[in-house]
Amino acid sequence: MNCPACSRAIIDTGARFCPYCARPLDPGESAEMLARADRETDLTKKRELLLEARERFPDDFEVEKRLLFLGRLGEKGGKVDFYRIPYWPLMALERPGEFSARERAQMLDSFFGNPEIGRVAAMSGDPEAFEKEYFGAMGFRYVEVFLKESNSNKYFLGFRRSERDVRCRCRESLDRMVKNLRTSADVPETYRALMEEALEKGFARVFGQNGEQ
Ligand SMILES: [Zn+2]
Repeated sequence: MNCPACSRAIIDTGARFCPYCARPLDPGESAEMLARADRETDLTKKRELLLEARERFPDDFEVEKRLLFLGRLGEKGGKVDFYRIPYWPLMALERPGEFSARERAQMLDSFFGNPEIGRVAAMSGDPEAFEKEYFGAMGFRYVEVFLKESNSNKYFLGFRRSERDVRCRCRESLDRMVKNLRTSADVPETYRALMEEALEKGFARVFGQNGEQ
């Protein structure tokens, strides 16, 4: 048996802790904690469970992955801060006119330049696939939360827009994002194609391939 954290060989098969790095070796417990965190819909409680799991199982890929995808959601205290939503900074691409050039640069740097992405990707065994999964999840959530559920896309003078109208408006927003993604100097070259694919896939997932929901 090898330790899942430091990968050194452990001779004592009944060991409860790795003798080298002290990681607990009870896979049942870690799986149980993760399942509880996955089921939790209250983001504050979800975050607490994951932080508890991180303390108990340091350097565990599954725990670190969940914390990365959660971003700063569920953080307690402090004032309302959109940066807590990990995919919110993509708004710099959708509505560039609402932010100054400096704000846009800061938003996109916090999203694409987040050092946690590389750190957790390196633990994954396949960093390329991991980045694809990460940006895919962020693109999907952005389309779902900030495009589909935005009031201006959903309502007109208080009346609910038709599904076709909502989709049309969201498609226009997405096209604008893609255009800015391709041209903005604040987006690293290496992530342009990856993020474009993530947004397109997210759109197809939210609205259905043929536009039906
Ligand atoms: Zn170890």
